[in-house]
Amino acid sequence: MTIIDGKLISAQVKQELKEEVEKQKANGGKIPHLAAILVGDNGASETYVASKIRSCEEIGFKSTLIRRDSSTTEEEVLEIIQQLNEDDDIDGFIVQLPLPAHINVDKVIEAIEPRKDVDGFHPINIGRMAKGLPAYISATPFGVLELIKRYNIETAGKHCVVVGRSQIVGLPMSILMQRNTYPGNCTVSLVHSKTQNLSEITKQADILVAALGKPEFITADMVKDGAVVIDVGLTRVVDTTKKSGFALKGDVKFDEVAPKCSYITPVPGGVGLMTVAALMYNTLLSARREIYK
Ligand code: NAP
Repeated sequence: MTIIDGKLISAQVKQELKEEVEKQKANGGKIPHLAAILVGDNGASETYVASKIRSCEEIGFKSTLIRRDSSTTEEEVLEIIQQLNEDDDIDGFIVQLPLPAHINVDKVIEAIEPRKDVDGFHPINIGRMAKGLPAYISATPFGVLELIKRYNIETAGKHCVVVGRSQIVGLPMSILMQRNTYPGNCTVSLVHSKTQNLSEITKQADILVAALGKPEFITADMVKDGAVVIDVGLTRVVDTTKKSGFALKGDVKFDEVAPKCSYITPVPGGVGLMTVAALMYNTLLSARREIYK
């Protein structure tokens, strides 16, 4: 059993990006510039955005953080988006989710110029991704693909079961794993909360991607011997032994599932770090106009 080291791979990706930026700078090219909009005071969102800004600094990107309190209106958010869309120095930007309940998330995402949508959430990027056209691929599924690639995990002809059908993780993951490319060429099952006999399906998975947000939901009896298990789940649970007062839990009961696997990602130290690295990669692609000319 191999534990997939997201910390190591994300550090490699970031180092590669840093070298690319240095080359670009030396050649008088543009320094990639990522902006993030953070609305409200969700603790987890604060941590994620801080990690994205820190990564920009490490790699040598410019970054801009736009913070607004939870009383910010939808119109105000749409105005900020319009400004970023029009700002030639900004290569890409993200709106950190979740947004406060009074803001329509679909409206906000659709307001982002697809060329700057480095999170890959805009319907145009999702549609282009589904058609196999150049597109920004959502950072979390993109990070998962990169882990699979860098560990040379075989995917062709395998049965991939994705648990969860969210727009940002499960759905794109399922589309990507069935594409006629590597990683891909899987037979894909996408399961969700209305799926009957869920464990009968997960037990058939050669590659199991858990993205449901239910801590330790996937137990050993739901996993086939030798499976590759990718745990996307990241839930804060109370832990009074930690200074922060919480611990991060994945969707997989790691201790009992890991011995059955050929590969498994830990939480933390797996997919989460790759998500940030993938976002940085998309920002570099944007600065180089590699997706949209
Ligand atoms: P989400 O939007 O809440 O979607 C969860 C999905 O799981 C839904 O499709 C839901 O089904 C399904 N589901 C819920 N309970 C289920 C059950 N008992 N059996 C089968 N399916 C079930 O969540 P998300 O945004 O995709 O995030 C999923 C997890 O990944 C969360 O823990 C989140 O924090 C984590 N995450 C991590 C990263 C990272 O960087 N590592 C990035 C994004 C998200 P229905 O559609 O039927 O409701």
